[in-house]
Amino acid sequence: MTDNILIIEDEPDIAELIQVHINELGLNAEICLTGQAGLNAALSGEYELVMVDVMLPDLSGLDICRQVRAAKPLQAIIMLTSRSAETDRVLGLELGADDYLTKPFNTRELQARIRSQLRRVHSMQALTKAEQHRNKVTSIGALLVDHQCHRVTYKENNIDLTSTEFDLLSFLGKHPDQVFSRSQLLDSVWGYHHCGYEHTVNSHINRLRNKLEQDVTQPRIIQTVWGVGYKLNSAGTYQ
Ligand code: CA
Repeated sequence: MTDNILIIEDEPDIAELIQVHINELGLNAEICLTGQAGLNAALSGEYELVMVDVMLPDLSGLDICRQVRAAKPLQAIIMLTSRSAETDRVLGLELGADDYLTKPFNTRELQARIRSQLRRVHSMQALTKAEQHRNKVTSIGALLVDHQCHRVTYKENNIDLTSTEFDLLSFLGKHPDQVFSRSQLLDSVWGYHHCGYEHTVNSHINRLRNKLEQDVTQPRIIQTVWGVGYKLNSAGTYQ
């Protein structure tokens, strides 16, 4: 079945350009030119990926991101922001976007980001269909990462993660105490590396910490190694 992608973008030229590039990948793309129409479509329809512009005349793309994320924790979302709007990018990621693209973007970058998100979506879809498979669980102290069921528990409490948060934690959990740079994490978890996108990693780490750490100002589980990157501290998961 062909993947469906929703584009929420009020500038028709940009929306159509994105649609053309998506069609080139052999995928379907539907355009909503207002935030409200886009939000309704995202909540009621089935899309492998939602791409939402931050600057919309009626609703903020950030609000759309928050509402879609609340209703559909596993929905893949890419935010579209302007080059100058750093705060929008940060906010979008904090609100649960999986990735962002700054306008103007080139075709190759756009298509690479879309492919990368769809790879994640497909691997999740394959997982849900493979129920009879043996569960693969990584346990690090009180942290249990069930790679098969895409479920994380910490101290026996279920932790709700977005699919990208899960992939990031799962990757770190497979290599406890090993330090990874932001570039390495982008390569391994997002499946691409573009200079300047390291903030995507920081934001996802912050969101994971908010969900896992007792005191986010002194993280014990996901630790920053200054000048290098991040690691999952196995000792911290026992506390
Ligand atoms: Ca706009």
